[in-house]
Amino acid sequence: MDERDCIFCKIARGELDAEVVHDEDEVLAFKDINGRAPVHVLVIPRQHVASLEEVTSLPERVARRLFEVSSEVAAKLGVGESGYAVRINNGPDAGQEIFHLHLHVLGGESIGMP
Ligand code: 5GP
Ligand code: ZN
Repeated sequence: MDERDCIFCKIARGELDAEVVHDEDEVLAFKDINGRAPVHVLVIPRQHVASLEEVTSLPERVARRLFEVSSEVAAKLGVGESGYAVRINNGPDAGQEIFHLHLHVLGGESIGMP
């Protein structure tokens, strides 16, 4: 899967609609189309990175921004205090469906471990 066909690259390029909650040069956050918690947002680098195995190709500042934006989005959506989970599904056993690195921000109810 390259950048032309990648769903999240298309969202980052504005070719596919998404409910964007945070937009900046190198990082984008939007609501998961199939939200599994009252707050379920995906935070992505605009640069196509398939998985954690490729994270070294991201500039350090962008890798850091993924975490900062996760925290900012949680606060913006009202779960900064109540708490939230930040999750990366990486590879088959984790059920990774979209091979463009993304952080799930899940909150608004008790989020347990699987
Ligand atoms: P994962 O790869 O981490 O297992 O899951 C990918 C996530 O992306 C799923 O939670 C799924 O609901 C979400 N998703 C898949 N396609 C789209 C889409 O076109 N738009 C949005 N907003 N979310 C999507
Ligand atoms: Zn992509």
